Amino acid sequence: MNLINITKLTKIYHTPTKEIKALDDISLNIEENKIISIIGPSGCGKSTLLNLITKTELPSEGSIRNNRKLTIGYMMQSDALLPWLTVYENACLGLDLKDIKDTDTLEYVNNLLKKYELYDFKDEYPDNLSGGMRQRLALIRTLAIKPNILLLDEPFSKLDVETRKNISDDVFKIIKELKITAILITHDIEEALSLSDDVILLTKRPGRIKAIYKLNFLEKVLPSERRKDEFFNTLYEDMWSNIDHD
Ligand code: ADP
Ligand code: MG
Repeated sequence: MNLINITKLTKIYHTPTKEIKALDDISLNIEENKIISIIGPSGCGKSTLLNLITKTELPSEGSIRNNRKLTIGYMMQSDALLPWLTVYENACLGLDLKDIKDTDTLEYVNNLLKKYELYDFKDEYPDNLSGGMRQRLALIRTLAIKPNILLLDEPFSKLDVETRKNISDDVFKIIKELKITAILITHDIEEALSLSDDVILLTKRPGRIKAIYKLNFLEKVLPSERRKDEFFNTLYEDMWSNIDHD
């Protein structure tokens, strides 16, 4: 089933001096329980697309239809952990804001912390965590509100290559275990290929759909294992030659 239907979506920003067309005629269905990556050059409208999905921005033309009520978990480029709050307090931040701190929910957060190896650090401060741990914590905080869709806007771009590769397996497992739909924005072809079910390639601004890749890796195959798959490099090269480079 499609969670979201995007039809002929165009977004034009109006500034005092000019009009900027960010997205042009995007039609796309977001299927439930899939990880979709959106990849394209800087400024092609990737973040704009997420802002249209969250309704922070309105479309200039076209429509976005949700087939279920969305509970959105949004993870941005910076992990946005608050240094003066403990690991546990950071994990509960979204719950404080939504005022949903019942016993079941708190137990759910505790279980997430245990499962993803942060429970022993729950009274520590984020500055004492490694890059990968911080990212897992940011993800747990996003998951605590039980989203049915996860929007990830280049969440790993500040991590070094090794941490990024390790966190990919963790994030993949978490998303698949919890059966969440996810849209991942990334600059990195390898990341898109290793994590997603479908990869949407956008042109340079105004972003139009250039290609949609439906990947056929087995459901349970981890990102680190996919990277070793014989088709990985072929797909990589195909995407690399298809993408508009900045
Ligand atoms: P990406 O995330 O792919 O780098 P964005 O969606 O952030 O791209 O931006 C697409 C284009 O729209 C860019 O040229 C950007 O400068 C412009 N833009 C984004 N937000 C606004 C805004 N609020 N007002 C005017 N222009 C904007
Ligand atoms: Mg962006």
